[in-house]
Amino acid sequence: MKFHIITIFPDYFDSPLSHGVIAKAIEAGTLQVEPVDLRDFTTDRHRTTDDRPYGGGAGMVMTPEPLAKAISHVKAQAPDAPVILFSPAGRLFDHKLASSLSQQEELILICGRYEGVDQRIIDKFVDMEISIGDFVLTGGEPAALVFIDAVGRLIPGVLGCKDSATQDSFATGLLEHPHYTRPRTFMGMEVPDVLLSGDHKKIEEWRRKKSLETTLERRPDLLDKTELTESDLEYLRNLKKS
Ligand code: SAM
Repeated sequence: MKFHIITIFPDYFDSPLSHGVIAKAIEAGTLQVEPVDLRDFTTDRHRTTDDRPYGGGAGMVMTPEPLAKAISHVKAQAPDAPVILFSPAGRLFDHKLASSLSQQEELILICGRYEGVDQRIIDKFVDMEISIGDFVLTGGEPAALVFIDAVGRLIPGVLGCKDSATQDSFATGLLEHPHYTRPRTFMGMEVPDVLLSGDHKKIEEWRRKKSLETTLERRPDLLDKTELTESDLEYLRNLKKS
């Protein structure tokens, strides 16, 4: 999968993408990340990409001309790639959206700065606006990093263990169960006996129950959207009674 990122800070991505499984996937060619410097599409000496807002008010707005040229330039190489703009006004990013966008071969990501981009760019070129949460960042670049990490790890071959993406929180519809590793006793706290039993069926049952407990306690809204078995439902009913 290839991510084209239109940004005024193309170097922003160097260090974060040079660590861990995402870096390995880039090295292997499973993922490609191509920052496109928006300033290369400006025509003035100062390589300006912003201007004062019509109507007045605080801050600057990203001007449409360089953005239109940059988007058209990338579109010429990737005509079928959806154009995504990061914006607090966008659709809230979640696992379902990450999973559906991971089916695309290429994506064009636009990172806003200042007060955002001229509305006519959105009207003319943008297929989807995405928000990574109900807060405001200084720019779309950190949102793009979160997005690339979350979508990239769903691409087959990116994660070392092929099952982990499908068993993680949200992918199952629930939050994940707790994890333990060595040592068996840590600061007087023991690893639950069942995890040491070697009984895989019992371990799976325990993990499912813990997953249901955590989800009920922290994100009960997820339970309404998840397919649950009769024994899950019975366990939840008992938990609610206790
Ligand atoms: N004036 C905008 C508003 O009030 O909604 C905020 C602009 S913000 C300072 C600059 C850029 O950061 C935005 O254009 C967008 O690309 C990015 N950004 C900020 N918050 C974001 C969020 N929650 N999700 C995705 N992108 C965000």
